[in-house]
Amino acid sequence: MAADGLRQFQQWFGPYPYRELDVVETPLLAAGMEYPGLISLGRHMYTGERSRRLPWVVLHEVAHQWWFGLVGSDQLREPWLDEALANYSAWLYFERTAGEEEASALFREAFEEPAQRLRDEEKDLPIFLPVADYPRDIYGPAVYAKGALFLHALRQEMGDEAFLAFLRDYADRFRYRAAEGTDFLALAQAHARHPLDAFLADWGFVK
Ligand SMILES: [Zn+2]
Repeated sequence: MAADGLRQFQQWFGPYPYRELDVVETPLLAAGMEYPGLISLGRHMYTGERSRRLPWVVLHEVAHQWWFGLVGSDQLREPWLDEALANYSAWLYFERTAGEEEASALFREAFEEPAQRLRDEEKDLPIFLPVADYPRDIYGPAVYAKGALFLHALRQEMGDEAFLAFLRDYADRFRYRAAEGTDFLALAQAHARHPLDAFLADWGFVK
């Protein structure tokens, strides 16, 4: 799955510049952890009920080779920039490869339900805060789930073709550099056919 994800993400986001990508089972507390050229997966993810989530984790970590590895960002100050992108990219992969029904179920489970729980429990926070500003149980749903919903909404706002061209351009321009949220949003605007101001304001982004 990592090899297939690597092929697909190269088509979308541009070449992976290394000769290898190592996927390694490790005694890890997290589900997975990304490093350039290396993905570490928690041993506990390989068995039992958790193993159902392993493919998702693999694709999320492969996507980090672009969003974090090639395009750097400040992971503490703007965690959404790599995490929401890695998470949404994982879903893009399943949207392409899994059936429509399975992709929809994943979308609900990974994105919509955690984001809905935040609203139900009145713990909703914007997607773009620094890590330290999220209570521990809010960080995941706000950044990984709601962040991915933001990217999905952005895609719908821009159209599929413009959205993918934008991500490709973002990967090209910021390859081996560090991007900021404002870079990401300005480039999205450059690829969009109409002003995104009202849309971004709805998501809490202010200029
Ligand atoms: Zn991640």
